[in-house]
Amino acid sequence: MPGFERFDDAERKEVQEVLETGVLFRYGFDAARKGRWKALEFEKALSARLGVQYCHLCSSGTAALSIALAACGIGAGDEVIVPPFTFVATIEAVLLAGAIPVFTEIDETLCMDPDALKHVLSPRTKAVLVVHMCGAMARIDEIAALCREHEVILIEDACQAMGATFHGKALGTFGHMGCFSFDPVKTLTCGEGGAVVCDDENRYLTAARYADHGHDHRGGDRGLEGHPIMGTNFRISELNAAVGLAQLRKLDAFLKTQRAHKGKLMDMLRAFPKITPRRIPDEAGDSATFFSFFLPDETSARTTAAALSRKGVDSCFYWYDNNWHYHRQWDHLKGLRSPARLPIMLSAPRPDYQGLRLPQSDRIMGRTISMLIKLSWSDDDLKKRMDLMAEVFSQV
Ligand SMILES: *Cc1c(COP(=O)(O)O)cnc(C)c1O
Repeated sequence: MPGFERFDDAERKEVQEVLETGVLFRYGFDAARKGRWKALEFEKALSARLGVQYCHLCSSGTAALSIALAACGIGAGDEVIVPPFTFVATIEAVLLAGAIPVFTEIDETLCMDPDALKHVLSPRTKAVLVVHMCGAMARIDEIAALCREHEVILIEDACQAMGATFHGKALGTFGHMGCFSFDPVKTLTCGEGGAVVCDDENRYLTAARYADHGHDHRGGDRGLEGHPIMGTNFRISELNAAVGLAQLRKLDAFLKTQRAHKGKLMDMLRAFPKITPRRIPDEAGDSATFFSFFLPDETSARTTAAALSRKGVDSCFYWYDNNWHYHRQWDHLKGLRSPARLPIMLSAPRPDYQGLRLPQSDRIMGRTISMLIKLSWSDDDLKKRMDLMAEVFSQV
């Protein structure tokens, strides 16, 4: 998955062009920058690639989530439905917005289960924050239909799903706003960076302003620009944007390699009927950053994960025990252990996070192993890996 596996002269050239001008800031300095606008160029290229009207780059995927929540009008006391399997940043963004995360179950897509969501949606729900985990999609058509029916905002955390599609449409473009990350381990990386995308001009303008202290970006003098709203600084630098621009041009090549590797792993898996692949609503749209599979039960999953590790099959994740990606280990969050008082601490009633029980998600995650698919594997690396995996799988 990680785009840093394919850094080369293309990234160096883009960065060099920025350094030559000395302008590392995305706004202004029109004369000095010699027509080089890396953030702007990246935004245009990404909008075109995803088939969306508007894109605003920002400093991280976490910032993108905060921007999307703000631009969609989600704030203090608003309930946002979230899944328990995600990078913890998703939940942090909701809490920092002053909103209240309400958890619902995932299904065998490893993403939010629309059948469970139906029962969690309530008159207090303001938004649904769906996360497309491990490179592939939730049942996003069903989730989007439910959100329309209940007239709630739908935000997509597509930080792990760059380049993935559902029936040809890019993930991140099904809801009111989509969020992406370009952190060091994502499909495209620029060190630190993120993006929000949408088709609504007003939401886009609010996003771009919010991420830059409320600047309306009108006229040529930053000091004289208007401030229709308050905001903060979630800006990306030109250096980061330059790297991202070079990476974006490689996205199709990355996807091709990942999908070819995953195809071979899927073929291998067919010999082991007790082990089943993750459910993917549109297999062709998987960005194939991960190869995820289910063991028959938690015990065999633990044994298999341990055996893979013993054999040296690296980059396998047993998320059920992971400190950062599954709710079981989020005691800091459930205890609201924050350095300062959060708005949620003033709201009553609020969900009982300590007592949070998600039996369906636990049953699924307890059986799940995901293997990172690397761009740098040679045919020989992959063959050796599959031989070792076959030895382990035959013991199940
Ligand atoms: C990486 C990630 C984020 C946060 O992105 P950063 O750029 O690291 O802040 C948010 N959500 C998910 C699902 C992620 O994987």
